[in-house]
Amino acid sequence: MKKQLLIFGAPGVGKGTQAKLIADKLEIAHISTGDILREAVSKETEMGKLAKVIMEKGELVPDNIMIGIVRDTLKEDKCSNGYILDGFPRTVKQAEMLDEILKELNSNDICLINIEVDNKLIIQRLSNRKMCTNCGSILSIDAIEEPERCPKCKAVGKLIKRKDDEVEVIKNRLEIYHNLTEPVLSYYKKKSIKIISVDGSKTIGDVNLTILRELKGYYNI
Ligand SMILES: [Zn+2]
Repeated sequence: MKKQLLIFGAPGVGKGTQAKLIADKLEIAHISTGDILREAVSKETEMGKLAKVIMEKGELVPDNIMIGIVRDTLKEDKCSNGYILDGFPRTVKQAEMLDEILKELNSNDICLINIEVDNKLIIQRLSNRKMCTNCGSILSIDAIEEPERCPKCKAVGKLIKRKDDEVEVIKNRLEIYHNLTEPVLSYYKKKSIKIISVDGSKTIGDVNLTILRELKGYYNI
């Protein structure tokens, strides 16, 4: 069975980190719509310019743009062995469109990973992180030992607070998550797909082990 995974959770629950670990372990593609959008923003493409304004306010990029990105990406060769989709679908409309795309691709089996963390912890985690503009790493302030020096690439003076990690913007993102993305979970719960729910307040390693154990049971790997 081709491994087609969706990873879910509010902003700041560690979706991106887990998605990367899972993709490496299962040798499948990690498709992060956030990364794709940020790349478009840094390249200043037409889509990037539009996305920049929307993301800085903590709002969702319109469905039609997101669906176009996902449709194109899932058809690429790198997805032939499977993929984990991170950041999509974020609305019920997007979930319905994903069903259509999967039908086109003749591969309807998906498995959903849901990472649960309470809002208070999320706000604490997100308001405590910085991004390195040199290598693109997103870092918890706790991981930065020397002031201003990136622990990954060692560049100095390149650490910034992302606009979408400011507290007011975080609160906006959480509210949008609650209003628009939680209904997507209900949408999938009504279908008979495999859903793995994990407690995201644990360490990265513990969360990862729990997910992999469940996936092994499901895919027989
Ligand atoms: Zn760096």
